[in-house]
Amino acid sequence: MTCRISVLGVGYLGATHAACMAELGHEVMGVDTDPAKLSKLAAGEVPFYEPELSEILQKNISAGRLTFTSSYDDAAAFADVHFIAVGTPQKTGELAADLTYVDSVIDNLVPRLRKPTTIFGKSTVPVGTAERLGIKARELAEHGHIPEVAWNPEFLREGYAVKDTLQPDRLVVGVDKNTPGRAIEVAKRVYSQLIKDGVPFVETDLATAELVKTSANAFLATKISFINAMAEICEVSGADVTELADAIGYDTRIGRRFLNAGIGFGGGCLPKDIRAFMARAGELGVDQALTFLREVDNINMRRRTGTVDKVRTLLGGSLVGAKIAVLGAAFKPESDDVRDSPALNIAGQAQLQGATVTVYDPKAMENSRRIYPTLIYASSVEKACEQADAIMVLTEWREFNELEPSKISKLVRKKIIVDGRNCLDAENWIDHGWYYYGPGRSLSGPIDA
Ligand code: NAD
Repeated sequence: MTCRISVLGVGYLGATHAACMAELGHEVMGVDTDPAKLSKLAAGEVPFYEPELSEILQKNISAGRLTFTSSYDDAAAFADVHFIAVGTPQKTGELAADLTYVDSVIDNLVPRLRKPTTIFGKSTVPVGTAERLGIKARELAEHGHIPEVAWNPEFLREGYAVKDTLQPDRLVVGVDKNTPGRAIEVAKRVYSQLIKDGVPFVETDLATAELVKTSANAFLATKISFINAMAEICEVSGADVTELADAIGYDTRIGRRFLNAGIGFGGGCLPKDIRAFMARAGELGVDQALTFLREVDNINMRRRTGTVDKVRTLLGGSLVGAKIAVLGAAFKPESDDVRDSPALNIAGQAQLQGATVTVYDPKAMENSRRIYPTLIYASSVEKACEQADAIMVLTEWREFNELEPSKISKLVRKKIIVDGRNCLDAENWIDHGWYYYGPGRSLSGPIDA
């Protein structure tokens, strides 16, 4: 059955959700405060890089199922179901999440509602937020139509956002058990196709739904930092972390995924989400429960400084005057998102230590330039590598995995390659006379390369 849906906030999450809900046959209105983003989306142009998204965006705009607006009046009049998809960034100078945008959606939307509605939060929020917003909504409702606030956390991965929205591992919907309403029934209507396809539908209370998201992120961050800690041990003991990960990954209790040692996690979610989680635990008086996440964060940040230290050592103890090619700027491949990107952080640190750093990324050049305007940007791998004293592969784009060492050899001043994601064929580079460094691996090659 078709629903009339508004998606409030059409960034990475919201634009994908809006297009995918239209793809499921619903009538959807995307709402944002950023006029530039809205006009691009309305013209069928995705304002960021996300595979498969522009096709379904254009298709559903043409079919008349998907529109965009800055008007909360229009959204309130149009939709019966609202999804909150605004950002929840880290507060400046604090670990906690900034909930200003989420609150502002409730403040702007609720007084305009003139019919029974359900508001589903999708943004990642600290536990307790949904209940507070529900109380606020009841206070702000002006026309006798108190909206029900439920939480439907989002687990999509950038780079796979469309697939993850249309074929998610699970749907989680949390409702206020004290004031039972229709949210579960509404969610089942919105996601009826997915439920028919066999996607598990998990019904919880509000707090559990919020915690499902933050604890999933905490677990994934811990897994990454665990293998990166093992990489540190491997490096000093001569072991190989990729073989170790393969071997422990065969144990189905452990699993191989998210066990790739490298320069660590970044992006617009994991780092700020684990910090907000720690801050919230502190507010709830159980900070000790999440003290381990501080170490997870420390291990992760150490990968960035450690990688710069490594390249400095390889270049004789100083980066002053060194020419470094950085391949990759996005926080992960198949995305142009550079929010808290380890790659750009490392590039920036190397530059601050005196290196001339030239960056190339297949999709994230524009975003990188905006936040790191002082780095040099090259239009191709080859241009970035010209006369380089060291190459650092910091995002595992396929284009980089497939580089031919023999071709790159002709461009550089020194044959030193730092494989920050352990994504290259190490033996191949070493066979071509390169000094190879991958975090946690004992491989090397000639140091006078
Ligand atoms: P984003 O910054 O790309 O998008 C947020 C959008 O909200 C922006 O376009 C902004 O202009 C808009 N906005 C701000 N205030 C608004 C308001 N009052 N009304 C309407 N629009 C408003 O952020 P994102 O990456 O899409 O993340 C959004 C939320 O989803 C965050 O809580 C994030 O943690 C969570 N999340 C993101 C992902 C992801 O992969 N990006 C995955 C799962 C969960």
